[in-house]
Amino acid sequence: MPTLAIASGKGGTGKTSLAVNLASYLAGEYRLLLADLDVEAPDCAPYFGSSADSQQAPRLLQEVYIPVPQADDSRCNGCGACSRACHFGALVAIENTVRINELLCKGCGHCVRVCPTGALQERPVSAGKVCALSPLPGQAPIELLYGLLNIGDIRTTAVIDAVKKKAAEATASAPGLTLRDCPPGASCPAVRAIHGADYCILVAEPTAFSLHDMEKTARMVLAMHIPAGIVVNKAGAGSGDVAALARKLRLPVLAELPWQLDIAEHGARAETALDVPEMIDFLFKLKKALQQMKLLGVGEGGL
Ligand code: SF4
Ligand code: SF4
Repeated sequence: MPTLAIASGKGGTGKTSLAVNLASYLAGEYRLLLADLDVEAPDCAPYFGSSADSQQAPRLLQEVYIPVPQADDSRCNGCGACSRACHFGALVAIENTVRINELLCKGCGHCVRVCPTGALQERPVSAGKVCALSPLPGQAPIELLYGLLNIGDIRTTAVIDAVKKKAAEATASAPGLTLRDCPPGASCPAVRAIHGADYCILVAEPTAFSLHDMEKTARMVLAMHIPAGIVVNKAGAGSGDVAALARKLRLPVLAELPWQLDIAEHGARAETALDVPEMIDFLFKLKKALQQMKLLGVGEGGL
């Protein structure tokens, strides 16, 4: 079963809403894992009843640690090889002392390897965690994995990688369709979240802002040689020409969800909108498009 990445240019286009509605729509038919890789703002969990006052408690699967160097100044000769080796400006050697900015460190270990005196030793520093939510009786049978970056931390990709690894382990033992809710944009977190997916669904609003940013993300996805298609959210709510951009990028428009206040209200309450006919019609068209591309089997389910 494939992995589908759901991405967008700017934030707020409806990526998470699409991810949870599509997951809930397909869950009766396909074995399904939803991986929330938007680790700075993992918003899928509230749709499944996870909140401070609910009985739905997430399970901690893994604390994500990064091996950060610490210096033993008594062994440092001040050569500066470590700071020259660091591509992230995370450490600076001043005379016989090394100062390390832990938040900038990516844990690559390069500085430790080039240090001629063994003055640098690695120690694990937490960047975030990976959590899981299993469905309660009566809920859609969706396993949710999500990453949560520590407050103030910027080492997003380490947490994304950890969620992807857990998702791969889960689908290796119980094969199924994986939906990834990816971070918006075209920077490192989005690249890392989309990388390895079989297909990318790009969510766009018909606004100049959304289309400007989506073009950048779409070109990034195409440069990664990942096939992609566009879904239009809030169709009719703006004057941006999504179809023209799709033609320019040579990408198909898979389905359009019209702008409706009650769909937005469902989203504001962190509820799926499967009781809204327009949402069901949209998801049906999207499922058919995915089936025509052989990304989803027809009638074979997986359950
Ligand atoms: S481990 Fe890598 S990123 Fe961290 S300080 Fe050393 S060279 Fe820089
Ligand atoms: S490479 Fe090692 S010895 Fe040289 S400045 Fe860095 S910590 Fe000190």
